[in-house]
Amino acid sequence: MQNIDLFKEQISSSSPKKIVITTHHKPDADALGSSLGLASYLKKKNHSVTVITPSDYPSFLNWMKGNDEVINFEAPGKSEIAKELIREADLIFCLDFSSLKRLIDMGEYVKASKAKLINIDHHQDPDDFADFNYCSTEAAATCELIYDLIYKIGDIELLDQDIAECLYAGIMTDTGGFKHPNTTKNVHLVTAELIALGADNSKIARLIYDTNSLNKLRFLGFALTRRLKILEESHTAYFSISKKDLRKYASQTGDTEGLVNYALSLDGIKIAALFTERKDGVKISFRSAEEVEINKFAASFFNGGGHKNAAGGISELPLDETVERFEHLIKENQHTLYNQLEIINEKN
Ligand code: 5GP
Ligand code: MN
Repeated sequence: MQNIDLFKEQISSSSPKKIVITTHHKPDADALGSSLGLASYLKKKNHSVTVITPSDYPSFLNWMKGNDEVINFEAPGKSEIAKELIREADLIFCLDFSSLKRLIDMGEYVKASKAKLINIDHHQDPDDFADFNYCSTEAAATCELIYDLIYKIGDIELLDQDIAECLYAGIMTDTGGFKHPNTTKNVHLVTAELIALGADNSKIARLIYDTNSLNKLRFLGFALTRRLKILEESHTAYFSISKKDLRKYASQTGDTEGLVNYALSLDGIKIAALFTERKDGVKISFRSAEEVEINKFAASFFNGGGHKNAAGGISELPLDETVERFEHLIKENQHTLYNQLEIINEKN
C-alpha cells in the first residue's frame, strides 16, 4: 500500500460503498479465506459486499462463513448478475493474484469497471493494474496480509472467530501446514492472534485435509501407481493426468490438489510437476525444492508464474506433447535450474 491513510479513507464506515471482492480462478483456501474474511470485516464497516469467484472451488472450503453468498461467475445464470455488480461497484478488491489474466473470462469486466481496484497479494512480479496495492512477497499468504492491513488500520476489534477461521485456513495451507520456508515469525504471531480470537486450528485442519472422498483416495492410489514418472538425472518427477483418468475417478474440483507434493516428496527429487488435461488446455502445477526457482521456468515456458517453490502455468498443446516439451525443456535448462542446486550438492 502506497498510502495506508488514503486506503483507510476509501473503506471508512462513514461512506458506505458497493464493494466486490474477487480472487483467482479455482480459488484455494488462501484465495477464498482472504476474500470471505475481508468481506465479513467490510460488512461490519457498513459496506455492501459481494464475493465473486471466476470459477467453482473445492467443497472442503464450503464451511467458511459467507460461502453461501459467493457468486461463481461460471455457474449457470450467474455471469450476468456478476457483471452488473462489477460494473456498478465503487471498489473491487483483487486478492491473491498478481495479474488480471488469472480471472480468465471475468478479467475484462473488472478492467472495464469504473471501480477503484485494490490488489492485495503475495506473489512475485505483480502487474501494475490496480489503483492501490498492498502486496508483499515476504508474506506467506494473502490472509496474513489481510490481518496485517486490518491491524494497521486499527480495526483489530472488528475481527471475530468466523473471520479468524477464514484467515487461519489460508495461512495454514499456503505454508503447507507451517512447513514451508515462508513460515516466518510473523506467520506464527498472526496465527497465535487468530487462535486467540477463537480459530479452532485442529478443526480447520480436519475440515481441509481430512474430508477426502473415497474416489479421491482411490484416484491418488492410481496416480501414484500408474501416472508418476521420474527423470532421475534431472531430479524431476511428474504426474500426467488425462481427462479420461479424471472421468474414471469421478474427479471433483480439488481432487488433484496436493498430488504434486507426492512427487516432490521423493528422496532426491528437486522439481515436481502435475499436468492435468482440462477442457481449456493443460493446467500445470510446479513445485521445487531449495534454491530451484520454478516460477521463472513457469513464466518463461508455460505462460505462468507464482512463487519460487510453487508455481503454475498452462499449455495449449495436447497433454502428451506438453509433457514431451516439458521433458525436453527440463533437460535443456538443467544448467540454469540447477545452478544453485549443484552448489548445494557439492557442499553435501
Ligand atoms: P497450484 O499449483 O497450487 O495451483 O498453484 C501454486 C501457485 O502457482 C499459486 O499459488 C500461484 O501463485 C501460482 N499459479 C498457479 N497457476 C498459475 C497460473 O496459471 N499463472 C500464474 N502466473 N501463476 C499461477
Ligand atoms: Mn496465496
